[in-house]
Amino acid sequence: MKRFSASLTRTKLKRPLDSNHPLLCLVDSCKSMDQIKQTHAQMITTGIILHPFAASRLLKHLTISPLPYPLSYAHLVFDQIPSPNLFIYNTIIKAHAPTTHSSHNSLLVLRSLLRNSSPLPNQYTFVFVLHACCYGLGVLEGEQVRVHAIKLGFETNVFVTNVLIRMYANRGSVEEARRVFDWSTERDLFTWNLMISGYVGSSDLVRAREIFDRMPERDVVSWSTMIGGCVQVGLFTEAMELFREMLLTGIAPNEFTLATSLAACANLVALDQGRWIHVYINKARFKMNERLLASLIDMYAKCGEIDFASKVFFNEHSPKRTVWPWNAMIGGFAMHGKSKQAIDIFEQMKVTEIAPDKVTLLALLNACSHGRLVDIGRQYFKSMSSIHGIEPGIEHYGCMVDILGRAGLLKEAEEIILTMPMAPDTIIWGALLGACRIHEDMEMGERIGKLIREREPNHMGCNVLLANMYSESGRWNDAKDLRDKIEISGKKKTPGCSSIELNGTFHQFLMGDRSHPQTKQIYLFLDEMAIKLRIAGYAPEIGEVLLDLNKEDRETALSRHSEKLAIAFGLINTAPGTTIRIVKNLRVCRDCHLATKLISKVYDREIIVRDRIRFHHFKAGSCSCKDYW
Ligand code: ZN
Ligand code: ZN
Repeated sequence: MKRFSASLTRTKLKRPLDSNHPLLCLVDSCKSMDQIKQTHAQMITTGIILHPFAASRLLKHLTISPLPYPLSYAHLVFDQIPSPNLFIYNTIIKAHAPTTHSSHNSLLVLRSLLRNSSPLPNQYTFVFVLHACCYGLGVLEGEQVRVHAIKLGFETNVFVTNVLIRMYANRGSVEEARRVFDWSTERDLFTWNLMISGYVGSSDLVRAREIFDRMPERDVVSWSTMIGGCVQVGLFTEAMELFREMLLTGIAPNEFTLATSLAACANLVALDQGRWIHVYINKARFKMNERLLASLIDMYAKCGEIDFASKVFFNEHSPKRTVWPWNAMIGGFAMHGKSKQAIDIFEQMKVTEIAPDKVTLLALLNACSHGRLVDIGRQYFKSMSSIHGIEPGIEHYGCMVDILGRAGLLKEAEEIILTMPMAPDTIIWGALLGACRIHEDMEMGERIGKLIREREPNHMGCNVLLANMYSESGRWNDAKDLRDKIEISGKKKTPGCSSIELNGTFHQFLMGDRSHPQTKQIYLFLDEMAIKLRIAGYAPEIGEVLLDLNKEDRETALSRHSEKLAIAFGLINTAPGTTIRIVKNLRVCRDCHLATKLISKVYDREIIVRDRIRFHHFKAGSCSCKDYW
């Protein structure tokens, strides 16, 4: 673009420009592209556009206005400014930086700025261009910009340091981010927070914690990033400890802190602490936003309080304009096996015209799976692409396989796997193998088992499943062969682990655990319990236990399963009538399921167990899953 003639520029620039000049005020009041064009035309005819102050006012309006003016127009205006000052350069660089399609323009503008000897770029110029490298551009471009920043003496500038840390961390070079951090001589709170966030982004909580512990001062962002990081990698107890520590320091949590802490409570089944956060939200008069509402519903549902979760959903004064609270509610009902309610909520949601997303449909299919609703499941699955325009992901296909497999439609389930557009993974084949076991289809099970072994010879879950199938159908030798192979592979089965909260403290038990201070008492209680259960008609299901043990030892091994230890601990330490809440990392085994039903009757206690898949609400000798899990 040709710049305007220099002689005209000089005459116009001599006169100072009043910031209340009517044309400039007109610029600020523009509300559409048409108005902008008219005003711009007047600025050209009056010559006022040649004044850098006027041009930058127009440029500023075009780039910071919430109206979506095309950036290309702003760039045209920039091109016509005879000798832009640094503010004008920075404005256009900043405008291009966060865009994906034109961020390279910020680099080009910087290049033209560097070619002219004046004006010289300042710290903001580098911050804006490096910002472009965080998103649209890349580390390679960023490093070239960094060299220029160093040359011009901005190496130790805290703003430049911060954006460099962000750029390297965002682009997956957290080690380089750390080098920038270590070399920096000037740091502010933001520098420390960015470094923590960089480590959290790469799931390195040890190093995040190292930085966090070294911080001279912390704000709510520092704490929230650490808490969020712990939740992200499954360190829920640590997340709750940090949350408590944060409150003790007197720093008030924000919505993000509360939502992530609620997620930690949900995963720990820490109902009391979750309730405490709910009370806190009300007392501190936090505005109930959609994320917070969804986290609360999710927490109550995952702590076994599904009725309360739905109370929160219906009572909280939130407009529910986004999909999150709906997803939390549908997912909650699904995991509690309340398929009808899940479907009802979905139908209500459709009336509100909130578009369902992948998560909604997955929760809905889960509800169908837990409720044996084969036809409805098929319909919803079909509606995904035909009505809602959502392409099913592998997790949706997996859910469909689960629905069909559980209902015994093994052939149709296999058909789904063979015809889906993506390559099947071990998880989806494993779901079919599990269904083969439930429906005792040894022929198909063996075929699928072999197929999985070919792909992943050491897949522990599937190998154990197949070995169990062999032993259940009396093929002891095949079972033993497979178990021997498992042992040779040296891979350990994920140990079963159950936890229970008592007065704000978490007690964890592994299978056969003897590390708890109350171990002696717990094991005595278990022996006593075994006698009581036998009188009530309990016969252990020993099919899943190692074969090299004799019958008596197999029974003993079963009685030491982690959930039984946790239940015994709960029965010993809580008053009669108190509901016991257990969370287990794996699926509940058949024997523990049977035993817990009887415990709920013999000891007259409600026991809520959340396993990897769903909820079991044991009461008076039966379970809410109706033995279907
Ligand atoms: Zn068990
Ligand atoms: Zn159950």
